[in-house]
Amino acid sequence: MLRVVVLGAAAGGGVPQWNCGCPVCRKARTENPELQSTQASIAVSADGGHWFLVNASPDLRQQLIATPQLHPKAGQLRHSPVSGVILTNGEIDAVAGLLSMREGSPFTIYAHEKVLSILRANSIFNVLNEKNVRRQPIQVDQTFEPALPDGAPSGIEVLPFAVPGKSAWYLEGKAHPGGDIGEGDTLGLRIGDKSGKYFYFLAACAGVTDDLKSRLAGAPLIFFDGTVWRDDELIAAGLGAKTGQAMGHIAMSGDQGAIASLAGLDIDRKVFLHINNSNPARLRSSPERRIAEGAGWQIPADGTEIVL
Ligand SMILES: [Zn+2]
Repeated sequence: MLRVVVLGAAAGGGVPQWNCGCPVCRKARTENPELQSTQASIAVSADGGHWFLVNASPDLRQQLIATPQLHPKAGQLRHSPVSGVILTNGEIDAVAGLLSMREGSPFTIYAHEKVLSILRANSIFNVLNEKNVRRQPIQVDQTFEPALPDGAPSGIEVLPFAVPGKSAWYLEGKAHPGGDIGEGDTLGLRIGDKSGKYFYFLAACAGVTDDLKSRLAGAPLIFFDGTVWRDDELIAAGLGAKTGQAMGHIAMSGDQGAIASLAGLDIDRKVFLHINNSNPARLRSSPERRIAEGAGWQIPADGTEIVL
């Protein structure tokens, strides 16, 4: 059995974003609080007792409070069911939550060397003492089994693979602390258990290649990049100067978008994640939402649990 909880479904900034007055953020603050969403992360467990986070968002503290599965065990003074954090990129919305995990509980960070190099280059992450918090490099195309804090196997198998993407936004135009090797900045994950259940996690992906299509074909469940509805959405709404592509994110709509590219692949359940507050598919009554749902996609609420 594989249990997955969507801790947050929003892109960087969340919904509402602190400084945003776009229609979605306004509604989320006022008449539609159900639109509120924290920044993208999931938790996964094979035994229901030990959990691994995929990415640690800046909203992690709030997400842990809202998720009973991740509360300390009754009767223990210090405990967390979180056994590890698997990082798929070095963006702020994927790593900043690590700073909220600094109170001495043991866990392991699993990340590609390129992302580990970012943690090393930013001394604030040294608050996570390596005696308690191991940093374990992971490699593209090499399956690993994350371990429980006592070293026992978790029953979860993770295969990281490279997907089209970008290095972290704050490194744009700067030297990458991990050097210039191409891969490792953006990973997709295939996460499975010993019984053969599995799903895919790609919360950042700049495009769907033929290789990626054949990988995802027939999957029981995918979480996929839903940052923007259309590539020039931020520019058209006057919210920013960047396209989705410039940020390393595919659009939901359009001939090259996620909905069209992943149609007809016999994927049982398709869930968008990392959905920006500018994306009109967030609004339940929008035509964009109807198109996405009509094509078999789900826009999840925070806290959604899926059991495979
Ligand atoms: Zn907004």
